[in-house]
Amino acid sequence: MRLRNVKNAETIVSNSPYSINEPEQYKGQFNELFGNDNPIHIEIGMGKGDFIIGMAKKYPDINFVGIEAYSSVMVRAIQKLEDMEDIPNLRLINKYAEFLGDIFDHEVDTIYLNFSDPWPKTRHAKRRLTHENALKVYDLVFKGNPHIIQKTDNIGLFAYSLSSLSQYGYTLEKVSLDLANEDIPNVFTEYEKKFMSKGTKINYLNAVKYLKK
Ligand code: SAH
Repeated sequence: MRLRNVKNAETIVSNSPYSINEPEQYKGQFNELFGNDNPIHIEIGMGKGDFIIGMAKKYPDINFVGIEAYSSVMVRAIQKLEDMEDIPNLRLINKYAEFLGDIFDHEVDTIYLNFSDPWPKTRHAKRRLTHENALKVYDLVFKGNPHIIQKTDNIGLFAYSLSSLSQYGYTLEKVSLDLANEDIPNVFTEYEKKFMSKGTKINYLNAVKYLKK
């Protein structure tokens, strides 16, 4: 999602108390940054932030980090946060997912991929956030068993993810082609609200890679 260039987006993002501007400095020390031993969950491609902000409010005993490549998008989340009470278990990082291995060192419990860019052309498959190359990067950030939760409207990306995750050794704990009809706790993202208002069904998967002891 690329928005019109928001004036000063980069400055607004880097001045926010929620932003971690040089996240590599905290590699291996995110629990110290949060000041507790609670689990850390991250969303890659958090967009305008409704999901990660909603999750952080709903689950105060989990630390949430939103990752977003574009400051012009992340600034929208920061503007929302300015009008809210402090959320101590939330931080934001303005980086591409490809760099996650420089930022986290085996300290993340769960990765959320919500309405990621589908990259439908085969020659762009490597850019999908469930491509094997991405899954290899995620291995560097996960603490115990890797755990990925994906939501998407895009059936092509969803089918690809099911296959890619399975081939990479993930077990699909839950798969749904219509999340709204499941008894699964959910916090809506901006894209999700848009798709649901049009009647589009949301695909959902919850996958764990059980590491051999
Ligand atoms: N999760 C939000 C936004 C979905 S759009 C929602 O559901 O509403 C996908 C978002 O991922 C965009 O904001 C885009 O800028 C971001 N993005 C795409 N590729 C990325 C990458 N490699 N690393 C980080 N963010 C990425």
